Amino acid sequence: MGGFEKLFEPIKVGNILFKNRIVMAPMATNFATQDGLVTDQLIDYYVERARSDVGLIIIECACIDSPVGKNIAHELCVDREDCIPGLKRLASAIHEAGAKVALQLHHAGSLAKSSITGMQPVSCSPVASQVTQEIPKVLRVDEIERLIEAFTEGAKRAKEAGMDGVDLHYSHGYLITQFLSPLTNIRTDHYGGSLENRARFPLEILRRCRQKVGRDYLIMCKLTLDQFIPGGLTLSVTGPVSRMLEETGLDAIHATAGDPNSSDSFPVPPMFSPRGCYVPLAEGLKRYVKIPVGAVGRINDPALAVRILEEGKADLINLGRSLLADSEFLTKVKEGRIEDIRPCIGCNQGCRGRDRTKYFTVHCSVNPEIGKEKEFRIKPSVRRKRALIVGGGPAGMEAARVAALRGHDVTLCEKKGELGGQLILAAKPPGREEIKNLTGYLSNQIMKLKVNVLFDQAVDFTFVQDFNPDAIILATGSIPVSFLENEQLGDQVYFVHHVLGEEIEIGKKVVVVGGGSVGSGTADFLAERGHDVTIILRRSDIGSKLEPSTKKVIQKRLQKNRVGIIPKAYFRGFVNGKVRIDREGIEEYLDADNVIVAIGAKPENSLYQELQRIRENVYAAGDCVEPRGIQEAISEGAMIARII
Ligand code: SF4
Repeated sequence: MGGFEKLFEPIKVGNILFKNRIVMAPMATNFATQDGLVTDQLIDYYVERARSDVGLIIIECACIDSPVGKNIAHELCVDREDCIPGLKRLASAIHEAGAKVALQLHHAGSLAKSSITGMQPVSCSPVASQVTQEIPKVLRVDEIERLIEAFTEGAKRAKEAGMDGVDLHYSHGYLITQFLSPLTNIRTDHYGGSLENRARFPLEILRRCRQKVGRDYLIMCKLTLDQFIPGGLTLSVTGPVSRMLEETGLDAIHATAGDPNSSDSFPVPPMFSPRGCYVPLAEGLKRYVKIPVGAVGRINDPALAVRILEEGKADLINLGRSLLADSEFLTKVKEGRIEDIRPCIGCNQGCRGRDRTKYFTVHCSVNPEIGKEKEFRIKPSVRRKRALIVGGGPAGMEAARVAALRGHDVTLCEKKGELGGQLILAAKPPGREEIKNLTGYLSNQIMKLKVNVLFDQAVDFTFVQDFNPDAIILATGSIPVSFLENEQLGDQVYFVHHVLGEEIEIGKKVVVVGGGSVGSGTADFLAERGHDVTIILRRSDIGSKLEPSTKKVIQKRLQKNRVGIIPKAYFRGFVNGKVRIDREGIEEYLDADNVIVAIGAKPENSLYQELQRIRENVYAAGDCVEPRGIQEAISEGAMIARII
């Protein structure tokens, strides 16, 4: 096991023996039906991960009072008897795959959106969440009592369904955190005010659940130890609360932190946060309780997981996004194949952000198999074909990897001297180094699979005709667009790749035109190197397509580095060191040594157009279809390689 033995040591939690220290953290998928019932898709997704030797799987949040307590449209539910049969199927499939399973019991409180639930959200006090901006209805004491009962009934149903335990969702700004935090609980009755009163609701839920399911049943909670908001929860408060929970019969605590209302730290920390960023809190919690503590938060490296356990900072390791990115994470660790682990890069795009809204169910930028566990299983090709792939970016590399795994004879041509394509530049702005791991993983895989990689190899029509492949996949990427079609860039006006590729000398004062992910990242890159940077953008906000936590980090970084931001402005020209802009109809001038254009890209698909007219089996993947993100590139490469 190459030094990872510690991860595979059994541990008794409550009355249950886990075969190892790895817990799959609960993550909402939207794979349930609209009524919150279990689907085959949900079962396949969990079984795939249970097969990879995970000790305990905590099933994503299950609503104990729908629809008002739901956070997402297709949230799993446990508030009705008709939820039990599906949960039973789920529990039994996970058991069969070799893991223990617990169900997370959840109520979103003021974080529930009326657009999803059709109802005004509820909470302890009329304090609007910054996420929804909706003022919740204040729960009366009899309604609180009813919710305690609803949690208790949820625990009873989980037990009836054959789950080994429950995990009470006391974290991430949802209802229980709202009661615990003095920022959201301003009640003056016996559920508000002192810590003892604020903790009454979670303690009572636990006490009554324990009564209902018995002493031997596993009850854990996920607790926000620090909200990272001035005046909010910190370990000095949540430590004593944890002790009270332990005394009331809790079996384990998964130690999380961050809050959706915080601008400093997030429930699901993005790539900019250090790996294992909440481990110090787990370690601190161990001074308050004797029950097992689970570490949470960007633990995407098995060596880090081992260190956490060996140094006694936690007893369990929660893997969340790492198991989204690679369902076989743990199998690969056990077999010592660390380089084969497909890394989670902390982008939060597919699992948390914009892409989540776009695709509705959970997705992963690096793993196109999520939610398609059965249909996307790689099957050997009936006939070994000569496949030519043009372009060594994410689409081309994933296509090469999958085609080679299917047994094809694969040649990949890359016009540059290294693989990675746009990933190379995407990893350059500060805090985005994790992206390099994806490039490393994909290039390493195709080398291991003996793909014939031709570097510095431009491919044109004649090359393809001479090569005469059985199938050709064009992954030729995109080219940046300028202000006007076919416009020649003026002196001292450059594109992003000139800057991030460090191909040119840039002056002190720089204007970046475009405030999307690429423009803001480039501005950050330049500001970090001491340039005076101003971004002009047509929209009112930078990074409008970024997922919320990444956007907050970028905004803060730009602010710290004194990057000027001029919203709702149009670039009109650059002459003699003066940038002319149109700001809501008013002409203004900015001094600049250079202008950097970051207003988008267009497909580089000329070879595809040429070939598909005369050849069969010609495919296009990634940005050369339409410039988008890593997710689309990898998923198209993966899909095409499965059909050739
Ligand atoms: Fe990780 Fe990004 Fe995949 Fe989420 S979408 S699991 S953050 S790689």
